[in-house]
This record gives sequence, C-alpha cells and structure tokens, in this order.
Amino acid sequence: MTNTADFDAIVVGSGISGGWAAKELTEKGLTVLMLERGSPVRHGADYKGEHMPPWKIPYAGKPLRELYAEEYPIQSKVYAFDETTRHFFNNDKKNPYVYDKEKPFEWKRADVLGGRSLLWGRQVYRWSDLDFEANKKDGHGIDWPIRYKDIAPWYSYVEEFVGVSGEKLGLPHLPDGEFQPPMAMNIVERKIKESVEAHFLGAI
Ligand SMILES: Cc1cc2nc3c(=O)[nH]c(=O)nc-3n(C[C@H](O)[C@H](O)[C@H](O)COP(=O)(O)OP(=O)(O)OC[C@H]3O[C@@H](n4cnc5c(N)ncnc54)[C@H](O)[C@@H]3O)c2cc1C
Repeated sequence: MTNTADFDAIVVGSGISGGWAAKELTEKGLTVLMLERGSPVRHGADYKGEHMPPWKIPYAGKPLRELYAEEYPIQSKVYAFDETTRHFFNNDKKNPYVYDKEKPFEWKRADVLGGRSLLWGRQVYRWSDLDFEANKKDGHGIDWPIRYKDIAPWYSYVEEFVGVSGEKLGLPHLPDGEFQPPMAMNIVERKIKESVEAHFLGAI
C-alpha cells in the first residue's frame, strides 16, 4: 500500500500545472506522489480521431444533441469536442459544480491522465499587464497580487524548455518571449498581414 510518508511531496492532478510541478520537484531530487482521478490514455490507441478521414468520423462529426444536452452541456461547447474526443472530457452530469446562474462559469474539464495538456491547441501566449489588471479595471473579483514583471522570468524559464516559435514584434498587449524562429506565413496569412498593416497603421 502507498504510504504518503514515503514521499517528499504530493501533486494532485497531472495537467500542465501538476505535470510541471512534478517535473521541477523530481529534478530537484524530491520523491513525488502524483494523484490523478482521470482515466489513463494509451498512446495511439486512445487517439480515436488520429489519421481518421472526415468520412469515417462518427456521425460525420455532428453532435449527438440529446446526449450532449443531457450529459455534456458545458464540455460540448468546446470547439474540440466530438465523438473522437468525448472520452477526454468530463461528464458534466456526473461532475456537477455550483455557480451563480446570473454569472455563468463554463468550466471546461478533462477527465484523463495529463488533463487538458492532451486537449490544448498549442498556442503559447504571454499575458500582459492588460490581462493582469483587467479584472480590477472591470470591477470583478479581487486585484491579483502579481503583475507581468513578476511572472515574466518564469515565462522565459518555461519557454526555453517547451520551445515556442514566434516573431518579436514588440506588441504591448502580447509581450515577446524566448522565441525559436517563426514559422513561415502562408500566402493567405501574408495577405491578411499586409491588409491589416495598410489599414491599421501601427497595429502590427
Ligand atoms: C480544447 C482546448 C484548447 C485549448 N487551447 C489552448 C491553447 O492553445 N493555449 C493555451 O494557452 N491554453 C489552451 N487551453 C487551456 C489549457 O489547456 C489549460 O489552461 C491548461 O491545460 C490547464 O492546465 P492545468 O494543469 O491548470 O489544469 P488541467 O490540465 O485541467 O489539470 C487538472 C488535472 O487535475 C485532475 N484532477 C482534478 N480533480 C482531481 C482530484 N480531485 N484528484 C486528482 N486529480 C484531479 C484532472 O483530471 C486533470 O488531469 C485549451 C483548453 C482546451 C480545453
């Protein structure tokens, strides 16, 4: 039987946050117990939609309206939710949570080992002080005790490990990071960039 006294630290949840915490702690020599309530995912076998041509996607990718309304009313709003990915998501009916109906809070939750790290779109943006101060300016919740300057070195720390492709543009609302070379834009993207630059001088 597992004895918690055998461990220096316990990490609850194996998503990006828990995964990174466990990585840091184990690299520093701590013995870590990770607890995860989601199902294990078998590499390959459980990626149901991988390499699946569109015509083989169950129900042609259309939602199962009654089932989704009954059991996945929140999760089914995620763009990535369909019959090839439903097994990655929480069943809302079995995992209800309380929120003020006047201020709906849609909590998109994974139900697998690795959490939402198996679902995210791999876009890696830094938040700026516009984000860190937005709730205060809008009058929601409490003022966050951190600002961009506090977190910036940690963004760098993580970016250097994960590798983020991007172009340093000096945008105040999208701070530059520790970028690897940017991916080339395709012709449509180049055209949009040119149009935006032509019509919204200084926007890019
Ligand atoms: C479809 C989709 C696309 C996204 N795309 C992007 C993107 O492009 N860029 C971006 O920055 N972000 C994106 N996000 C958001 C991003 O994925 C999440 O913010 C991030 O993965 C959250 O990490 P986390 O570790 O905080 O939480 P999670 O990954 O949710 O991890 C929490 C873990 O804890 C487990 N857990 C919960 N309760 C318990 C319990 N009681 N005991 C044990 N374990 C428990 C869960 O099963 C889960 O594994 C996307 C999210 C979704 C759903």
